[in-house]
Amino acid sequence: MASGGGYSRHSSSGAPSRLSTKIDRQNSGAYATPKASAKSRIPASPSTGTGFRRSSSGPLPAQPRASADAGVPGRVRVAVRLRPRNSEELAADADFGDCVELQPELKRLKLRKNNWESETYEFDEVLTEFASQKRVYEVVAKPVVESVLEGYNGTVMAYGQTGTGKTFTLGRLGDEDTAARGIMVRAMEDILADVSLETDTVSVSYMQLYMETIQDLLDPANDNIAIVEDPKTGDVSLPAATVVDVRDQKSFVELLRVGEQHRFAANTKLNTESSRSHAILMVHVRRTVKGRQDMDMSYRGENGHHTSSHSLRPPVIRKSKLVVVDLAGSERIDKSGSEGHTLEEAKSINLSLSALGKCINALAENSPHVPVRDSKLTRLLRDSFGGTARTSLVVTIGPSPRHRGETASTIMFGQRAMKVENMVKLKEEFDYKSLCRRLDIELDKLIAENERQRKYFEDEVERLRVEAQKRIAEAEKSCKIALENEKTKYQQDYMDSIKKLEEKWKVNQQAIEKSRAEQESRTATKSDELLEVRNMLENEKNLRQSSQDEIIDLRNQVQHWKKLEESRGAEIVKLRKLLDTEASQKEKLEEEIAVLKSQLLQLSLEAEETRRSLDRGASGKIFPGLDSLMSQANRNLQLRDQTNGPKPPIAKLFEQVGLQKILSLLESEDADVRVHAVKVVANLAAEEANQEKIVEAGGLTSLLTLLRSSEDETIRRVAAGAIANLAMNETNQEMIMAQGGVSLLSMTASDAEDPQTLRMVAGAIANLCGNDKLQARLRGEGAIKALLGMVKCGHPDVLAQVARGIANFAKCESRAATQGNTMGKSLLIEDGSLPWIVKNANNEAAPIRRHIELALCHLAQHEVNAKEIINEGALWELVRISRDCSREDIRMLAYRTLTSSPSLQAEMRRLRIELN
Ligand code: ADP
Ligand code: MG
Repeated sequence: MASGGGYSRHSSSGAPSRLSTKIDRQNSGAYATPKASAKSRIPASPSTGTGFRRSSSGPLPAQPRASADAGVPGRVRVAVRLRPRNSEELAADADFGDCVELQPELKRLKLRKNNWESETYEFDEVLTEFASQKRVYEVVAKPVVESVLEGYNGTVMAYGQTGTGKTFTLGRLGDEDTAARGIMVRAMEDILADVSLETDTVSVSYMQLYMETIQDLLDPANDNIAIVEDPKTGDVSLPAATVVDVRDQKSFVELLRVGEQHRFAANTKLNTESSRSHAILMVHVRRTVKGRQDMDMSYRGENGHHTSSHSLRPPVIRKSKLVVVDLAGSERIDKSGSEGHTLEEAKSINLSLSALGKCINALAENSPHVPVRDSKLTRLLRDSFGGTARTSLVVTIGPSPRHRGETASTIMFGQRAMKVENMVKLKEEFDYKSLCRRLDIELDKLIAENERQRKYFEDEVERLRVEAQKRIAEAEKSCKIALENEKTKYQQDYMDSIKKLEEKWKVNQQAIEKSRAEQESRTATKSDELLEVRNMLENEKNLRQSSQDEIIDLRNQVQHWKKLEESRGAEIVKLRKLLDTEASQKEKLEEEIAVLKSQLLQLSLEAEETRRSLDRGASGKIFPGLDSLMSQANRNLQLRDQTNGPKPPIAKLFEQVGLQKILSLLESEDADVRVHAVKVVANLAAEEANQEKIVEAGGLTSLLTLLRSSEDETIRRVAAGAIANLAMNETNQEMIMAQGGVSLLSMTASDAEDPQTLRMVAGAIANLCGNDKLQARLRGEGAIKALLGMVKCGHPDVLAQVARGIANFAKCESRAATQGNTMGKSLLIEDGSLPWIVKNANNEAAPIRRHIELALCHLAQHEVNAKEIINEGALWELVRISRDCSREDIRMLAYRTLTSSPSLQAEMRRLRIELN
């Protein structure tokens, strides 16, 4: 039998290998016949020889199933299935018995020739009319399906007369009744249950072959599919057929339903549902085989790391195919009664099936020629009969004796098929694509690793280079230093040895000289002289030693004294500091005392007032009229003191009492009367109109007498106030001066305790200071000193009067200077007023400040005073006044004064003071 042309097996030795990687391994499984050869297909052993041959009559020798199976595991297995009588047969053939009799336990079938004769046939399975669909699947198809799942090709086929149940057996969907499901549905169920959808794929094509044309049942428009054969392997495929991936049972059943709807169905007389076409379902199973590590190789990187342990062997893929063929009815065309067909058509319709019969005959008879190429069906099923597939055939028969002939021919077909032996083969191939992908990934990893390694090595080399350079530099440096040291050491040694030589030479020289001298002295001097000299030398030495000791001792003493002095110096500094703090505290206390004094004065004044008012309540016995008059005058005086209110009519006083009388009361025995009288006089003296009369009547003299003689300060204060008022008049001023008023006022000031007394005295002197003619005399009688003496009290009212006095005096001095009556340096300055002036030039009390500012301006106008002004720091005050004084006239006066004085100008230039 030619391996290329017929249903020949591809033996591993005979078949040309298509690819070196394709592995054709003979199946070593339960159904395989590893040693099977073309010849072994014909059963040689007696058991198989008789067991699978049709026996014409009589019982077949009992054959143990196992041995029969074991003997021909690659053989086409054939089962026969009997359909139960249908309703028509039940009615029409009621009087006739079935044409077949089944002996399922013996797997035999008896075909009645007539009432007395029958022939017995043995099959691999005999399925009675009661056989369930499940059992039929398990017996006929399940071994093939299992085999397909293991990687072998498989074929399940139904052959039989139309209406005998081929479609029932293979194609029932079992929509209503699950038990009715046919082989196709059950096979797919088993396949889907076994495969892993992650690594395996299941896909189907469904087509029909009719009149030598293959139509796609999943795509009816695709109605002429070509069969493609691999010229080398002879593998048959239908590339144009629709292939649908199946992932679940439901979608597969749906595919079958769609295919069924498309299936060309020709009605025949025999059965309205029967078909003259062959339905072919192809299920492609592609599985990845796991756990094959036998060819693993691993790669060890240069660094010794185990970079990968992946297998370099490509994954093994097993591709297998289950073909389920629902053949067209096996009855002859003319008998089918399809009158519509022409003879050619009828031939064509029957061609495939008769070609199949011929091939099976040829194979069964081991004929050298198997006409595979005669039809499309035989070309398609090339692998199923005499090929590498595991094939199971179910022949379906009906019970009716009317179709006995057809039944017989069906049985004979099955019998012949049982003789066909296949060489079941496993088809594995390597999945080079995925291996290639994996290797690419591996390669990329290695490249990256290599790159990293290279970078690492480069870095390492660089690091080592740098380190080496560093070490070389260090070594060079240390060498240089060592050499240098060595050199200096040798130089030193050299110098030392030269020195030593020189010294030796000197010593030698001295020794020579000494010996020479000794020789000379030995001859010239006596030995006792030498001794004396030596003693003297010794003495000298001792003296020197003691003086040196003394020097050291003295030095130590000096050091000691120095230290003592230092510590004393520190103590002195400390004490000085203490002294300073004491002084500042003293100053503060003095200030406080001044404040307290003024407060005390205030309080005593208030007390005096209170006493006075109390006195007023008790007096008035002697001069009741005067008393009331006095109190009124008193009030007026007080009023005048504080306000500038209207003056009371004094004429009344003169009319009622008379000036003489009032003045006489100043000398009264009664102190109270004296007090009241002096107050009245003072009140009268406040009126300019009265002043002349008072002076004419001897009032001034009386007042001065009071000032001199009175023990009572109130009297002195009021008297001083009266004198101050009288001193406003120029004539009176002369008189006051003539009667020694200034001396009296100065005395009063030195005795006074009440600041108001001082205020009156200061006011009186201030008035006198405004007289140009009295300057020298005033100064001579101590008026300036008296004014400056009063500032001690610190009361602002007193200070204001003092400032006014000084300002008046300064004004007169400057007037005298401008009129050419220059007297030389200012008397004010000579009497030491300038420090107080400078100190109070910026006093916060406006009256004091104004007078002093004016005084300063007047003093500065006289060039003779410039030096003093500068030395005492008054220049700064003048500058300040010229800049900041709130009164414009004074500000302008200061400015003019500063700009007109050459000395002050020069000083300001020196100090870089600029007026704005
Ligand atoms: P075929 O496909 O061989 O032409 P079918 O499968 O169409 O025959 O069967 C013809 C008729 O017989 C159908 O109505 C079917 O239901 C019925 N039939 C076939 N086999 C059996 C069986 N084993 N049991 C019951 N009914 C059957
Ligand atoms: Mg059918």
